[in-house]
Amino acid sequence: MLGLYLHIPFCSSICNYCNFNRGLFSGEVKDRYVAALEAEIVAAGRGESVDTIFFGGGTPSLLDPDEIRRLLTACRNSFSVTANAEVTLETNPETSTSERMAGFRAAGVNRVSFGVQSFRDDELKRLGRIHSAARAREAVREARQAGFANLSLDLMMWLPQQTQAHWCESVDALIEISPEHASLYLLELYPNAPLKEEIARSGWSLAPDDDAAEMYLWSLDRLDRAGYGQYEISNVARRGFESRHNLKYWQDAEWLGFGCGAHSTRNGVRWKNVAATDEYISRLRAGQSIVAERRTLSRETRLEEALFTGLRLTEGLDLDVVGQRYNTDVWARYGTSLQPSLDAGLAVREGSRLRLSRDGMLLANEILSVFV
Ligand code: SF4
Repeated sequence: MLGLYLHIPFCSSICNYCNFNRGLFSGEVKDRYVAALEAEIVAAGRGESVDTIFFGGGTPSLLDPDEIRRLLTACRNSFSVTANAEVTLETNPETSTSERMAGFRAAGVNRVSFGVQSFRDDELKRLGRIHSAARAREAVREARQAGFANLSLDLMMWLPQQTQAHWCESVDALIEISPEHASLYLLELYPNAPLKEEIARSGWSLAPDDDAAEMYLWSLDRLDRAGYGQYEISNVARRGFESRHNLKYWQDAEWLGFGCGAHSTRNGVRWKNVAATDEYISRLRAGQSIVAERRTLSRETRLEEALFTGLRLTEGLDLDVVGQRYNTDVWARYGTSLQPSLDAGLAVREGSRLRLSRDGMLLANEILSVFV
């Protein structure tokens, strides 16, 4: 079944490490954007079955519950959305109130993914985040009160000045709050990130690579013992609460993306919408195409991507199944290049199944580069 991704490109303030497609919130632009997004969804729908809808951003929780309802209604009228579809709203703690959470729940959202990043105020401040750890805790309480039984929290590790003890503090705080799902991301500093300059100016340090590796392994172990199973390099969940939407990206499935900069992959074709919000709105209003790039994926590319993304999952891949799907012998093709990783214990082959070990996950990009 298809997944739908709806991009909401507005934020209350811009974090100093952020490289996403987003801009500062403007009520006037938001009104026009919601109308454009609704029009794009209505025009695209052909009644296909959909079992996940994901509002990502930016900060989708800056939309009002009525706007979320309106967009979900457009999805339901244009696609055949299953009764138990997973409907996720990415939410930043500063936008949450009890009323808004209740409104989102009533509008049809059944999963909230909070961008918490850290439970230490000094770390949040260094990242340019505008919420505090206390606000994040309160936001989770508000979501629970509103009846959400499926919550996810994002944490970021390898932050400037972060010690292992600080990271443990955030992981333990997450466990105490007990969401159903958690994502642990490594801070990535893109070349012109303002945070990079800030780090240099302030003389902040980043933990050595080895410490970062230890932090990652320690947290997965700690989360394991607290009942969270790792199912992807950066994601853990209580059993049955894995993100069904994100699994589509890793399991070679199909999705449609709506909104500025959104990507879609369907029937072996990938396309991307124009990234600029104003251009997206004006093109839709003028009845012009909003597609900036479109390419047909070759069988080779699809195979490489299926392997590259599928091996991010802890269960790995059944190479026979992938081979049948793409009409090739995967091991004959890549076995020689993969053997050093197997010898080093970074990858494990059990029958036709191949997976990365936890140590291998630390070097996933290097190991998986044999496919691309
Ligand atoms: S809230 Fe998220 S999308 Fe918005 S600026 Fe910060 S990191 Fe980027």
